[in-house]
Amino acid sequence: MAFDSLSDKLQNVFKKLRSKGVLTEDDVKEAMKEVKRALLEADVNFKVVKSFIKAVSDRAVGEEVLKGLNPGHMVIKIVKEEMDKLMGSDVTELKLLPSNEITVIMMCGLQGAGKTTTAAKLAYQFKNKGKKPLLVACDVYRPAAIKQLQINGEKVGVPVFTMGDNHKPLDIAKAAILHAEKNHMNLVFIDTAGRLHVDEDMMDELAEIKENINVTYTVLTVDAMTGQDAVNVATTFNDKIGIDGVILTKLDGDTRGGAALSIKAVTGKPILYAGMGEKLTDLEPFYPSRMASRILG
Ligand code: GDP
Repeated sequence: MAFDSLSDKLQNVFKKLRSKGVLTEDDVKEAMKEVKRALLEADVNFKVVKSFIKAVSDRAVGEEVLKGLNPGHMVIKIVKEEMDKLMGSDVTELKLLPSNEITVIMMCGLQGAGKTTTAAKLAYQFKNKGKKPLLVACDVYRPAAIKQLQINGEKVGVPVFTMGDNHKPLDIAKAAILHAEKNHMNLVFIDTAGRLHVDEDMMDELAEIKENINVTYTVLTVDAMTGQDAVNVATTFNDKIGIDGVILTKLDGDTRGGAALSIKAVTGKPILYAGMGEKLTDLEPFYPSRMASRILG
């Protein structure tokens, strides 16, 4: 994760603010212009940038800030507080059902976003916490996807349920849950089909699974490196099928940070985890406030 460019630019703005004993409204406006430019260059959603700048400006040009003892510090504090509001300050965890019940997590996302890898990463983490997971291969359109899930399952020591590519995803998912019940497993990951683009068939298939199965969480995987495309994908999935949270993959290769900074504000749904590499151990809970302090210094 290297949001150094954004961080450097904000640090420069803050430095200027700190160096001034007295601040005028124009100084604040100028600083906000620079913050705005830095956020836009980091590929943060423009609506998010606009409302962020407005929120900070509204609070920062008030009498008590400008006439206060340390106006520069006050403005910086306001930026930090608004950034926390934007990203949500607390980590959001997936709370699993009690162990005698089956938690069903439907994993969805576009092809290549990292869905299959992430399903295995998550299964591995929960297995290490004493859960009994099952990975279910419901991507019947790409035989390679089934194979890949099997390989990943084997790597993390989690069983994979597959019925090949001749059955409907819903039927596979139903059979998998019965299988989990019989075998005293309590966490089912449904690895759904990833398409190249969001399309109606894809959404219908996901909606059908949700309507017929008691899905505990619908989790969307998006690729951080795709910036605002990731945010648009999240918005569409949330509108069409409803998602509970997002896993942001490939944050290790994301130099700008636009998706990480926009998803919560645009969709209202939290980022649950961050994928930090290709290895099956490279998955971390997403700590919004840590991320904000990294960016803001
Ligand atoms: P799917 O089509 O959505 O199931 O995507 P895959 O799970 O097949 O992942 C696509 C590629 O992204 C693979 O080469 C993964 O190793 C890679 N990948 C997945 N997550 C991450 C991540 O967090 N960081 C990096 N660097 N690569 C990842």
